Amino acid sequence: MTDKLAIFGGSPAISYDLELFNSVGEDEVDAATRVIRSGVLSAYIGAPGDAFMGGTEVRAIEQKAAEYFGVKHAVVVNSWTSGLIAAVGAIGIEPGDEVITTPWTMAATATAILHFNGIPVFADIDARTFNIDPESVESRITDRTKAVLAVDIFGQSADMDELRKICDKHDLKLISDTAQAPGAKYGDHYAGTLADIGGYSLNYHKHIHCGEGGILVTNDDEYARRLQLIRNHAEVVIRSEDPAQLNNMLGFNFRMGEIEAAIAAVQLDKLVPRVASRQKAADKLSEELSKLEGITVPFLERDCTHAYYAYGVVLDVDRLGVSRKRIVEALVAEGIPSLMSGYQNIHLLPMFRNKIAYGTKGFPWNSPYCDSDIKYEKGLCPVAEELHDKSFIGLNWCMYEYHDNDVEHIIKAFQKVWNNMDQLKS
Ligand SMILES: *Cc1c(COP(=O)(O)O)cnc(C)c1O
Repeated sequence: MTDKLAIFGGSPAISYDLELFNSVGEDEVDAATRVIRSGVLSAYIGAPGDAFMGGTEVRAIEQKAAEYFGVKHAVVVNSWTSGLIAAVGAIGIEPGDEVITTPWTMAATATAILHFNGIPVFADIDARTFNIDPESVESRITDRTKAVLAVDIFGQSADMDELRKICDKHDLKLISDTAQAPGAKYGDHYAGTLADIGGYSLNYHKHIHCGEGGILVTNDDEYARRLQLIRNHAEVVIRSEDPAQLNNMLGFNFRMGEIEAAIAAVQLDKLVPRVASRQKAADKLSEELSKLEGITVPFLERDCTHAYYAYGVVLDVDRLGVSRKRIVEALVAEGIPSLMSGYQNIHLLPMFRNKIAYGTKGFPWNSPYCDSDIKYEKGLCPVAEELHDKSFIGLNWCMYEYHDNDVEHIIKAFQKVWNNMDQLKS
């Protein structure tokens, strides 16, 4: 089958706009309206007492989320970025403590460490799952390492058994950024719940959302208390003089309002069908794309389910004899929306390469707290760099509905480009 590729003026395989995903309906309208009618749009008081924990909607979603994810405590915050910062503070990171994380993530994962003047150290990723590679983690451990911040990237859990073994062996804390994998399973557990502290994003682009928000989960009573404190101006609440109680209790306001909490509770009920529909669409796509030469479809770890926030594939560009750039241009011309060419190499962002965060003089790296040998440069994470520079492409799998018909069209677009790869070689 030869066909003129759309990039050369042929008619595109997909010639209509895909339906944007929208999970907000009348139930969310009712929930928001109920709160607005009550007049109580937020109900925290930054002082000791019951109201320190927020209003009825906030407490209701926390109870619901704790039951849902099977953890002792859920603490909601105004964004998952806030959640990550609170988690780093709650585990007691001190200035100069090193926290090992992945470069294949959103910047907030790494900057959360910096907010408490911890030092992000980047380990490489596993080429099949795109998650942090436990072996690389172990190779980065120094006597300053205090924690590992893993990310369940694109919707599949990081290797929590291996990471937990390493953390136990070296007495490290384990945090999980599960922003992209709510509802994914790791064995019998929900992704995010096997870390000391984990959690989910509720921003507009994620599986479920309330505009902006985040849910922290933990089974540790003390961490839950510290998260609640960091969320709501702890410094005016803690009456203790004990440094161990006061550490990292700076005056943040990470509070989620009552409207968002009420909407989040409705959205939580939609997580299971939402994840199931992403899986169905992804499975169909994988079934067909895996028949094409030089393309590796998402790898499913044993005993894991994938929530498919993103659908990522790896191209064997040497075998295909065409650059990724050219292939992506051809796929976009065929009408495939929201195609990612590469993903992230956070360790190479100018902020890290130049080590400029707080002020202009290089703090916290350039300070007595930090081992000055830390460098952020090309070559540090070769797997992540190769994927980003050369071979990874992905689809934002939460952005559109991806009805059966849409998935069929996307498959046709790939097949068309692959069947006519020769046209791209000239
Ligand atoms: C979305 C996301 C965040 C940030 O969540 P917000 O709720 O937008 O602050 C952090 N980490 C990862 C991996 C994400 O995908």
